[in-house]
Amino acid sequence: MTVKTVATITGLLTLFSPSAQSQPQPDPKDTEVWAPEPPRVVPGASSGAPSDAIVLFGGQDLREWVSTTSTGQPAGWLVSDGVLTVRPGSGHIQTKRLFSDYQIHLEWRVPASAKGSGQGKGNSGLFLASTGIDSGYEIQILDCANNKTYANGQAASIYKQHIPLVNACAPAGEWQTYDVVWTAPRFATDGALLSPAYVTALHNGVLVQNHVEVQGESVYAGKPSYRKHGPAPIKLQDHGDAVSFRNVWVRPLRSDK
Ligand code: MG
Repeated sequence: MTVKTVATITGLLTLFSPSAQSQPQPDPKDTEVWAPEPPRVVPGASSGAPSDAIVLFGGQDLREWVSTTSTGQPAGWLVSDGVLTVRPGSGHIQTKRLFSDYQIHLEWRVPASAKGSGQGKGNSGLFLASTGIDSGYEIQILDCANNKTYANGQAASIYKQHIPLVNACAPAGEWQTYDVVWTAPRFATDGALLSPAYVTALHNGVLVQNHVEVQGESVYAGKPSYRKHGPAPIKLQDHGDAVSFRNVWVRPLRSDK
């Protein structure tokens, strides 16, 4: 009898030994979770909003938005042919509604005629939570198809904090998409940070930020830091460039609609 044969027989004896047979087999039903059932959501046709989204800009008007420059003033940007465009110098606009955690979709376009370079070419921004006229947490909007700038300030960066994983930019003049999941920071009543904000983002369908931890509010100079805030508006930046938007919708991830 060869060594191999002995090993095979030993293996079979082990397999059919009483101790092996008496091991209870896990029941697959034990690990089936049937409730709660995810709510049924009907996806939007083509790039349309899904059935449970709040449409922030559907092409008609700015009823969901106000100017940040003076309290309660209507948003002063241009709406034409279903497209929303920054009116340079009119100031940022932000949502009337306040949000905590959410998923947002928006489409943006740098004008084909955009001039300038670096941070001066097609600059706008999606502030995932606005904490003041010029403050909050910005994911950058900028021409980056043919426009060199610092990597942590290019399009799809969490401004001055997280470089995008890849450059998924389309050329100026073309529509581009952002799909972002925002997890808001949590604060104790005394203002201490309980948990930081997190961002996951896709640019033109490509993952560019993978659950990155936000270090605080976006700042042009110096280090980011947190200040206590609650549910906040979403803001679009007027950085002096006529960037356009369309098809903007949001799905709150908690019961704060
Ligand atoms: Mg910007």
